[in-house]
Amino acid sequence: MVASGRAPAGLPYVPATMSVIQLRRAALAVIAAEARASADGRETGGILLGADDGERVDVRHAGGPGPDADRSTTGFRRDLIHAQQLAIDAWATDGSVWVGEWHTHPCSPVRPSDTDLATYYRFLDDPTLGFQRLCAIIVAPAAPPDWDRLVLGARLITRTELDPAKIVVAEGRA
Ligand SMILES: [Zn+2]
Repeated sequence: MVASGRAPAGLPYVPATMSVIQLRRAALAVIAAEARASADGRETGGILLGADDGERVDVRHAGGPGPDADRSTTGFRRDLIHAQQLAIDAWATDGSVWVGEWHTHPCSPVRPSDTDLATYYRFLDDPTLGFQRLCAIIVAPAAPPDWDRLVLGARLITRTELDPAKIVVAEGRA
């Protein structure tokens, strides 16, 4: 233990009580498969769908970027129509709702950039979306440029908090 409360060198700071994001294996499989596209150096991503009971976020489905996504080395904008259709399908399947976003960082750490945060806060500030908090997962290669092994960084974001969250992979869809 470190008396000062600071993380030892090289280790990330982890709060004593860490929020949990439950990531279903089916959703993780989509993220792992879609993330490979970033081997071209450009970001990709999609929406996350599931349930948030206020304690735990259950991510049951993950979407891909869609055919009209705008992918660049420093940013990513998913295909809105594609995302909306995924949301409709997930709702029909198991009542899943939009709980957040995932995207890749081919060349930067798995934490939200200022641009990412601006996007997340725009969602949180839109009363028609009804978000209390947003689940954000950022994906990067564990050993660039190899996208076979990934690092996932998760945050639960509210208007006032930017909490790192622990990802727990769970079986099945729901
Ligand atoms: Zn980003």
